[in-house]
Amino acid sequence: MKRNKRDILERLNAGEVIVGDGGMVLQLERRGYVKAGPWTPEASVQHPEAVRQLHREFLRAGADVLQTFTFYCSEDNLELSGNVTNITAAQINEAACDLAREVADEGNALVAGCVSQTPFKSLFKKQLDEFLKKDIDFFIAEFFRYSEEAAWAVEVLKTSGKTVGATLCISPHGDMNGLSPGDCAVHLVKAGADIVGVNCHLDPTACIQTVKLMREGLDRAGLKAHLMIQPLGCHTPECNLTGYIGLPEFPFALETRSLTRWDVHKYAREAYKAGIRYIGGCCGFEAYHIRAISEELRDERGFLPPASEKHGLWGLLWRCTQNPGSEPGLKGNIGKIFFQHLGVLTVHRWPNQKMNEERQHQSPACLTLYSKNETSLTFDTRRSSGTKTKMASCEEQLLCSICLEVFKEPVTTPCGHNYCKTCITDYWDSSQQIRCPLCKKRFRQRPALRCNTSFRDVMEHLRSLSLLSPTEEEQAGPGDVACDICLEPKYRASRPVWCV
Ligand SMILES: [Zn+2]
Ligand SMILES: [Zn+2]
Ligand SMILES: [Zn+2]
Repeated sequence: MKRNKRDILERLNAGEVIVGDGGMVLQLERRGYVKAGPWTPEASVQHPEAVRQLHREFLRAGADVLQTFTFYCSEDNLELSGNVTNITAAQINEAACDLAREVADEGNALVAGCVSQTPFKSLFKKQLDEFLKKDIDFFIAEFFRYSEEAAWAVEVLKTSGKTVGATLCISPHGDMNGLSPGDCAVHLVKAGADIVGVNCHLDPTACIQTVKLMREGLDRAGLKAHLMIQPLGCHTPECNLTGYIGLPEFPFALETRSLTRWDVHKYAREAYKAGIRYIGGCCGFEAYHIRAISEELRDERGFLPPASEKHGLWGLLWRCTQNPGSEPGLKGNIGKIFFQHLGVLTVHRWPNQKMNEERQHQSPACLTLYSKNETSLTFDTRRSSGTKTKMASCEEQLLCSICLEVFKEPVTTPCGHNYCKTCITDYWDSSQQIRCPLCKKRFRQRPALRCNTSFRDVMEHLRSLSLLSPTEEEQAGPGDVACDICLEPKYRASRPVWCV
């Protein structure tokens, strides 16, 4: 593919959205190529195939930039780690540049040479000299706790004449010296940074907040710079300055905190709305998260990444690939799958109630489900309480509290509760008193039951989209092929294997 000669700065100045790549270090640790603790990048020399493959996945997911896998690749960090004895920092830096370049040229991506924190300014110069032997488009100084150290890195990298981005791993409270995000940004721009922002340590919510504070600081100082964000791919509502490093789950048990791709869609949109135009991810951001950013911002960028060929937006167009030719006849079962996934999306439990409330506040008032035939159904998620699985409780709201199934011929009592007509009739037939089973309100005589027609219509509509659990006739029985995707109870598969 032809090389995009346009510089990152030129593209940002033109108002383009740049999608960054995901995290290399944590992913390669999980895959067995990086040692937790030292976190050094010797895999660039020892396992180039693993590094190359990860670059390729980010590229395919729509990344405009591939960062060299050179995290902590300065002599001091390598020495301190005691992990690398027979390979030099120079060898790693050069190999990492070649790998990123090789893959970037398979697509249309830029290569960013990356330096990260070290307390020795001279080491930035050494690393820069190694990068300059190779073909690097611009530089990123990332993962700095102190804006002072990041500013040193920026000053050194700027001597190359190339564009320099700088991201700090700080919280909205500022850096480790207590400098506010706004002041940090001013410091970095004055040192020469063209792009400033935040990476790693904290979740998208916190990082967006920090970048907004940076922008305010720049505005106050009358300075201009592009904004960049590459947050952690995990939820960290209780973390502060040290970020996820301070969690007991770090680094081996972070999985339950992982962002879902729907979290990432929301993040990408929020970051864009905050005026950030370089949007990527750090540790915990896998290729599918980067794809979610690319998909959320497809209209702004004007294209979808190659990886989206295998995948519909927001789970839409999810289709039975083993059953080609079935698509025209598909009903709306896509929605059911999406519905189930949304159930998973909101299961995350925050460690304390206050956070729950705060997070609740941040979540949208409703979730909209899209079905294949472009009907959308909106559910109020605020009605369900704090930590409950919101979508699951949505489905609960659609169940008769007597038979625990989706309402059939729903009727409403004078106290406002809904039941299936036969359920409440049978209930009253078999009891001495006429009471509402839910609120226990007593009625002198059996109230006239009116069919709740709008509710019935919603039920039928949902059932036609297969968003609801199957009715008895639709359920897989003995001798039927059960759908592999439904949760219990399972639909009878209308075609082999899947119920789609
Ligand atoms: Zn990170
Ligand atoms: Zn019922
Ligand atoms: Zn009642």
